[in-house]
This record gives sequence, C-alpha cells and structure tokens, in this order.
Amino acid sequence: MLYRRFPKIPNLPVSAVGFGLMRLPVVDGDQTRIDEAAADAALAAALDEGVNSIDTAYPYHGGASERYAGAALERLGARDKVLLATKCPVWLVKEEADWEKFLSEQLSRLRTDRIDFYLLHALDASRWETVKRLKGLEHFQKALADGRIGHLGFSFHDSLPVFKTIVDEYEGWEFCQVQYNYLDTAFQAGSEGLAYAAAREIGSIVMEPLRGGALARVPDEVKAIFSEYGKPRMAAEWALRFALERQEVITVLSGMGSADQVRENAATASSARPNSMTSRELALVERAAAFFRERMPVPCTTCGYCQPCPSGVAIPDVFDLYNTAVAFGTTADRSAWYRKAYVPAGKGGDACVSCGACLPKCPQGIAIPEKLAAAHAHLS
Ligand code: SF4
Ligand code: SF4
Repeated sequence: MLYRRFPKIPNLPVSAVGFGLMRLPVVDGDQTRIDEAAADAALAAALDEGVNSIDTAYPYHGGASERYAGAALERLGARDKVLLATKCPVWLVKEEADWEKFLSEQLSRLRTDRIDFYLLHALDASRWETVKRLKGLEHFQKALADGRIGHLGFSFHDSLPVFKTIVDEYEGWEFCQVQYNYLDTAFQAGSEGLAYAAAREIGSIVMEPLRGGALARVPDEVKAIFSEYGKPRMAAEWALRFALERQEVITVLSGMGSADQVRENAATASSARPNSMTSRELALVERAAAFFRERMPVPCTTCGYCQPCPSGVAIPDVFDLYNTAVAFGTTADRSAWYRKAYVPAGKGGDACVSCGACLPKCPQGIAIPEKLAAAHAHLS
C-alpha cells in the first residue's frame, strides 16, 4: 500500500485507497440491515492490506453504516489502527444546538471519543449559508480544540464557483472530498477544483472514482479500447489509476463489498503513484470517456454557468442524471434518485417554467427547457 499526506497534516500517512461504508453488503436487499459477517470480512481484508482510512456518514444505510463502523472496529480491535471519517448532515441542522446534537450522536454511534476526519456533508451554496448563519464553524472549532474532532473538512456537490467560494471563505479547511473520475473531470469541483484547493494547501479525498461502480462494469466496446494496452488490466483498475494520477488527490474512497474487491483495489493502490500514467495510457482512458460521452443525450459539461435558475431547477444535476441513465443503461437507479432527491425538492426538470433566463448563459447552446422536459420524461 502506498500512503500520501495532506499538506496541512504532514505527520499523518493516509492509505491511497480508503474504505467507503456507503455500499456495504446487506441482508435481503434491505439497505438498513448490513450483512455484518460479509462486511467484516471485507473490512478485515482491507486492514490486512494496509488500508487505514474508513469513511462513513450520518445517513449512509439509513444510519446503520455509522453504527456498523463503531461495532465492527470494536469487534476487530481496530479503532486505533484507522483514521475514521464521518459527516455532519447539514441539511438536518435547523438551529445552532443541532451541531452538537449530531456530533454527540455520531460519537455515540461510532463508539469513540474522537472522529479523526469530520466533514460538513454535501455542501452546496444553500447549505454553506446554513453553516455560516447557524455558526457551524465556531462550534466545530471548539470540538477541534477539545479533541472530539481531529481535522475538519467538507464534502461537496455544487458548481465550481461555489466550490471556490467555500474554499476561500474559511481558512481552516484541512481537506475536502469531491467527486472525481475519468468522466467527471469537469463535473462540480473537477480537475480545476482539485488544483484550486491544492494551491491553498487543501488536499482532496476523491469519492465516486468508479462512478457508483459503473466504470467497473464497462461495455464490450470500452473493454476493447482498454485491451489495446496489451497487458490485462480490469476496468476498475483503469478508473482508480486515473483518480490516483493527480497529486492533489490524497486518497480515493472505494465502497468495497468483498475481500476480493479489497485485494484488487489494494494492489492498484500499491503501485499507482501520482503522474505515473504514460501518455498512451491516458489516451486510452480519454477514448473510453469519449465513448460514454457520445452516448449522452445532452452535451452538458455540468459547468454550472446556467445556475442559479430562478425557479430552482438543478439544471446540471438533472442533465447529469439523464446522461448517466442513458449512457450506462442505469435508468432505474438514476430515476429512483431523481424522484427521491430532486422532484420533491422542486429541483427537477418539471419545475422549469421556460422563462429562458438560462439560455444565454450556456456555452454549449443547449435548448435547456426542451432538454429538461426530455430528461424529466425519461427519469420519471
Ligand atoms: S428556462 Fe427553465 S431552467 Fe432555464 S432559468 Fe428558466 S425556469 Fe430555469
Ligand atoms: S446546461 Fe449549459 S450552462 Fe448549464 S451546466 Fe450544462 S453546459 Fe453548463
């Protein structure tokens, strides 16, 4: 296993791949019932392979992920061998006292008196306003001082300009967590965000390096592209290597459901140094990315320039869900998420009133209202 270090935390080696606890094996398809024996086997294998970073969050598996992490680390006698990360559910915070309420509950669930890496979960423009209005940072500075939090950062889901604002408005960030993979180099924070944060000594944790597993289960056409390399290499390894290629990336989170998966990822992380891919390898990855992009029905680069929509439509997100559903053939999965997280919140394509305010802002010249209607029809 190779280890990397956050610029502001130089004494803490972090394994290049971390164990994400958001897609654990479950019993009878019930996401709140974790298959502890299977999950323990994968976690134990990860520890054996030198993985020292574990990532969970308040809502994962309906709250069961944090409880599992606490119990499993106790069972495996591993609490002191890992850097434990979890995230504050900012969207549930309604008053100042809630910061403490959630932190206390999380410490209890995790059976620990210290959370090594604490993140404000899924920050976007509106949640960042909540953090500032309800004095979240002041509260967490106290938790840092009394040792209940080791290091403070944020995970992120919004446009690049919002990412830069959040980075700039608080000097104390020690790390951030962003979505990054060979299809999402310009999505949300993207490559530019990684560099922007690194220039301010903020190292990045990468989530979704395999895009929810889709980049591990590629179609035959993409397998054929990768086979030109001449040496056998799994699709998942190509994706992990691409994420680890960036020196701004300190660790890449992978939701590993079995010991075999752990060993494959650990083998990759043991040899994937920054800036080590050849131009030929990078060209093959770019062709694989182009294959998927060509199948996407909207040429949206998710740049976010069209935001904010006065009617509240999350335009880039809706197009990304639509594009992913079509290009990867994962409509059921993306549709479920769209109907749960976007439509009820008034952020879906159906909230577009065709005012046209976004049209002149789109550098791709996309007929946004029409495409939103198509996206909504497909995802509904
Ligand atoms: S046309 Fe639709 S998506 Fe664009 S700004 Fe108006 S309401 Fe929002
Ligand atoms: S619709 Fe256009 S402006 Fe909006 S995110 Fe996509 S490419 Fe950017």
